[in-house]
Amino acid sequence: MNVSDKIIDFYYKHKRELIWRNTKDPYIIWISEIMLQQTRVNQANDYFLRFIKRFPTVYKLAEADENEVLNYWQGLGYYTRARNLHFSAKYIVGALKGTFPNTYKELIKLKGVGEYTAAAIASIAFDEKIAAIDGNVYRVLARLFNEYSSINTSQGKKRFKELAGFMIARQNPGDFNQAMMEFGATVCKPVKPDCEICPVANQCEAFKKRTVMELPVKKKSVKIRNRYFQYLVLLKGKSVFVQKRAENDIWKGLYQFPLIETKQNIAPEKFIKSNKFNDLVYSNSQILKISEEIKHRLSHQLLHIRFYKIKLEQFAHAEYYNLIALEELEKYPVPKVIEEYIKNNLF
Ligand code: SF4
Repeated sequence: MNVSDKIIDFYYKHKRELIWRNTKDPYIIWISEIMLQQTRVNQANDYFLRFIKRFPTVYKLAEADENEVLNYWQGLGYYTRARNLHFSAKYIVGALKGTFPNTYKELIKLKGVGEYTAAAIASIAFDEKIAAIDGNVYRVLARLFNEYSSINTSQGKKRFKELAGFMIARQNPGDFNQAMMEFGATVCKPVKPDCEICPVANQCEAFKKRTVMELPVKKKSVKIRNRYFQYLVLLKGKSVFVQKRAENDIWKGLYQFPLIETKQNIAPEKFIKSNKFNDLVYSNSQILKISEEIKHRLSHQLLHIRFYKIKLEQFAHAEYYNLIALEELEKYPVPKVIEEYIKNNLF
């Protein structure tokens, strides 16, 4: 048996029964692939079930309100994924009259669908012979072929595409792609790969050359940007002011408390004396509590967040914000860090 046959055979015998497997419905595959992009399989399970129950078809998703879609995504992070799903669902129902794109070339035109996802849907749902290369597959390929090209450079990606193309040639493409991903996730793992029980160890170049833990190679990535968020939790009776994030920035479309972003870290004693703070919060207001600094990591940003809980008498800028009752808050999609704050501090 060649290497591809052995990996597929291993997959048939040992595959995990995941709820989105064993279907050729491109809508289901699309949702699961997008959800799994930055989310672990175990965590995605419940979210997936809830999402599919509420939006069982592309039509149901297209006709939903964006706030509701974001609500069903709440907790998964990377909300652009949900907004793109919603946008693309409307595009499929509207411009494509409900016909799901059925080739890699058409699928990749959908907003939020990259090379990997387009290849996964095209191969699993429509049997197109195209390799879907995610982080797991890069690792398996790098080790099998002892390949030192960087997996995050365009030249390196081209090389890995060639290697995967070579392996997929005579296989059922959907099974091959799923087998490779599963193999990377469960056997050829980043740390402590199970080389002793690996069915292709004697064909694995990295295993023979003892270079397994050096691979895959990744070029050093971008710098993390620090940002400093001071949230003003302005309470008026049993209501609180919120606003929708509209700019092209993180958390677009989600709700937050009035925000003052500062260029650097600022001590609370200094912040409450600053003009920015005093422009928004009148002196007859009462500061109830100032939180510790919370560090919240996103892919390329590190947010330093502090919440200022304040009892207001009057608010000069009320027209720019929505005043909503505390018990209504859960209807508004908010970032995870604000959700945690609300849960622990407002009820
Ligand atoms: Fe991966 Fe080890 Fe198998 Fe090579 S021998 S494919 S490194 S698990």
